Amino acid sequence: TLSSDLFYMDKQDIAKLVKPLTKFSHKGTFGHVWVGGGRLGSIGAVVLASKAALKTGCGLVTAYIPSCGYQIMQTAFPEALTAVDPSSDIISTFPNDLGRYSAFCVGMGMGTDPQTREAFFQLLHTFHSAGGHGRLVLDADALNILSLHPEWHDLLPPESILTPHPKELQRLIGSWSNDFDKLEKVRSWCRHRRQIIVIKGANTAIVMPDGTVHINSTGNTGMATAGSGDVLSGILASLLAQGYEPKTAALIGVYLHGLSGDCAVGTVHEKSLIASDIIDHISVAWHHLT
Ligand code: AMP
Ligand code: MG
Repeated sequence: TLSSDLFYMDKQDIAKLVKPLTKFSHKGTFGHVWVGGGRLGSIGAVVLASKAALKTGCGLVTAYIPSCGYQIMQTAFPEALTAVDPSSDIISTFPNDLGRYSAFCVGMGMGTDPQTREAFFQLLHTFHSAGGHGRLVLDADALNILSLHPEWHDLLPPESILTPHPKELQRLIGSWSNDFDKLEKVRSWCRHRRQIIVIKGANTAIVMPDGTVHINSTGNTGMATAGSGDVLSGILASLLAQGYEPKTAALIGVYLHGLSGDCAVGTVHEKSLIASDIIDHISVAWHHLT
């Protein structure tokens, strides 16, 4: 603890939050993650998030992507179930029967086409009427669309996890004059809207709906690489699907993502680290935590 509302995340604190496995588990026990996103040329973002989710321990993953990505998804990641949008190149609509899924992440590689924006608006409505409280991870273009439509912010289910990198954060909350100002802006945003924001960067900070701030201690510069954030989104959704409370999922997920990157640089040079290396070391990172 650094002060009453600022915390530093160390290994012991995080390890205590992890639930033990039981012998009688089956794949339904660990939940079903739905990943929505992608467009022509960036289906890989959904592949990475889906793989990361399954590697983190959920039982099932369904990827929802534009139909051009069907074979890519099934080939790159046969363990995923794949559902396709009627449109070939972009997301044009989202399903509204989401009852069978335990957690959701949306936005990676999705673009902000007007049709995609409309689809996202409908998705927010689906959550709003079905009560998507604490089961949603919003990343990348989901955040960019929210920045374009501040009037939709009221539709966000409480305790969703938002994972902006610095540019996405600036679009969402406006610019700041210094780090302190940034943190205060994010804190008031999170308090007001009861959301969790993961401020990604070299020292990722998690801001909770009550305004408390948790600073992560894992990760390395090798993780500043394409797709790294997509991996984090998949990890977070997986933990939500496994029944962790959103705040706990955010803490474990951010720590585990950084730790996976740290485990990867044991064998891969920081310069050579790519997002798939992070995924390949989630398992080693779990070994360190459990
Ligand atoms: P994105 O920009 O969405 O791909 O997300 C990048 C991911 O890599 C986030 O989880 C960041 O926290 C992480 N990251 C980026 N740069 C660094 C860094 N210099 N040290 C540690 N982690 C980083
Ligand atoms: Mg990203």
